[in-house]
Amino acid sequence: MNDKRGKHTVCIHEGEIRDEQFGGAISPIYLASSYPFIDQDEKRYPRYFNTPNQEVIGKKLAALEHAEAALPFSSGMAAISTTLLSFLKQGDHAVFQNEIYGGSFNLIHKEFENFGIEFTLTRGIEIRDFEEAIRPNTKVIYIETPSNPLLSLTDIKAVADLARSKGIISIIDNTFASPINQTPIDLGIDISLHSATKYLGGHSDLCAGVVAGSEAHIEKVLHKGRNLGGSLSEFTCYMLERSIKTLGLRVEKHNQNAGFVAEQLQSQNGVTKVFYPGLTTHKNHELARSQMNGYGGMLSFELHPSIDAKAYLRRLELIKPAMSLAGVESTVIQPSLTSHALMSPDERAKQGISDQLLRLSVGIEDKEDIFEDLVQALKV
Ligand SMILES: *Cc1c(COP(=O)(O)O)cnc(C)c1O
Repeated sequence: MNDKRGKHTVCIHEGEIRDEQFGGAISPIYLASSYPFIDQDEKRYPRYFNTPNQEVIGKKLAALEHAEAALPFSSGMAAISTTLLSFLKQGDHAVFQNEIYGGSFNLIHKEFENFGIEFTLTRGIEIRDFEEAIRPNTKVIYIETPSNPLLSLTDIKAVADLARSKGIISIIDNTFASPINQTPIDLGIDISLHSATKYLGGHSDLCAGVVAGSEAHIEKVLHKGRNLGGSLSEFTCYMLERSIKTLGLRVEKHNQNAGFVAEQLQSQNGVTKVFYPGLTTHKNHELARSQMNGYGGMLSFELHPSIDAKAYLRRLELIKPAMSLAGVESTVIQPSLTSHALMSPDERAKQGISDQLLRLSVGIEDKEDIFEDLVQALKV
């Protein structure tokens, strides 16, 4: 598509299938799992990642991520595991940022040994922490920014430059930012991937993943993906296409609402700390300004020690205490009991995750209503 078109136009139109038969306004769903093979350059099959509806998602995401190509997967973890196994083999080493999504953390800790793949978690997220973790057999550096649950930022360009200077593939989990707020490939990252279950889906009703990168890198992921089998169903491709049409609008509203709530919470009695990259008080605010187009819908805050966190969550009327994130509805979790429950209290303390910490996924309701709910629950 025309490169000059804006992101909302891309969200709505890029990759769409023209309904030549009836002229309908939307992409038809093609459910076939059987296509011709005689006189075909490319044999279509759902697990080959090349059905018409899968191609819609690939084209849309490639355009949004400013990548040459992209592929949809059956979950974020299918995207992550397939990508890692595309670039790592027995005897290789990978560097992982210390703060990564729990599922990714489990994948490397539970599975990598079986494949003979070595890895190091960085000590921190400064560039020197990545430098010191690199070994002669390092093939991949993997980052996630903003991170969960403290919304710390990794310097994307610095990591990309470091990796490139050593011939190492750089991979980012871009789920929290979404391609509306952050386009890491512009900063030199090789591969940007997503749990599309989150902002790309956005309505808490589908599970999918996406990987974007150069033609050559995506070709490798495609071949691994055909063997591992984590392709996405045509129905879910269609739901994801429908969701992405409003991605730009939704993320802009998420950004506005989270910015408002973060700002207001800062001066609220009963709240001791607020973590949001858009706040000038955030330790990585300058970096956020330079590498993000918007600060996202995720924030976290600490309750005063006198407030019982569980009781606080029960007093919320609008905001749902619920796992997962990035839906149109606001949700909240207590990381020490959910996403980070498997860590020892010591490890949690080291990362700065206290029992008083709550992580809020700010939805697109009216911002005053979200804030009011958070405040009324503070008052007993
Ligand atoms: C949810 C999530 C994943 C995993 O995605 P699934 O779709 O649940 O497999 C990976 N990374 C991040 C940052 C996530 O939030």
